[in-house]
Amino acid sequence: YNYQVTHFVTSAPDIRHLPADEGIEVAFAGRSNAGKSSALNTLTNQKSLARTSKTPGRTQLINLFELQPGLRLVDLPGYGYAEVPEELKRKWQKALGEYLQKRNCLKGLVVLMDIRHPLKDLDQQMIQWAVAVDLPVLVLLTKADKLASGARKAQLNMVREAALAFMGDVQVEAFSSLKKIGVDKLSQKLDTWFSE
Ligand code: GDP
Repeated sequence: YNYQVTHFVTSAPDIRHLPADEGIEVAFAGRSNAGKSSALNTLTNQKSLARTSKTPGRTQLINLFELQPGLRLVDLPGYGYAEVPEELKRKWQKALGEYLQKRNCLKGLVVLMDIRHPLKDLDQQMIQWAVAVDLPVLVLLTKADKLASGARKAQLNMVREAALAFMGDVQVEAFSSLKKIGVDKLSQKLDTWFSE
């Protein structure tokens, strides 16, 4: 698929306001500042498709992009931002869980984690929710350019090892928007999910 033609369709304040549960969706999730917007911009080769966050945690909207009629990339709100009140955090976590578990057109989940700080509680929760409903997961270890190649490989192996414990379809790859690492792995995975 050509991801460069991806364009914004709509935003939804919560899962009840998403468009009809039809076609195919692939969702992108991650802690605020994990590099999710940058990854979407890199994948689509666009400078500002997804807004890179100057103020992490502020935009709590689900943003939907379309690459072809009925084929959508879903930018889920970043989680784990410290400044957000506890009650609001819980509300969002519940909504994310509901989306992952109830959205029929959802065919894959991309979880982005900073390669230097992977597998935080909420990252694990997202993966668990996905595996529980047989949703395949691609974990991208972002900002891989921040580590030298030895340390990068060590982190990759560590997370791959840990991913086995989820007992699901969980693939783990290194990724960098800055150095264009792992972009092919991402588009290949999306291709398989969109052609199912
Ligand atoms: P989001 O909150 O998950 O959407 O994260 P952003 O895409 O806005 O990125 C958060 C911060 O990490 C920004 O300052 C980006 O410039 C930086 N960043 C994102 N991707 C990379 C990368 O591949 N390499 C490096 N070195 N920095 C990155």
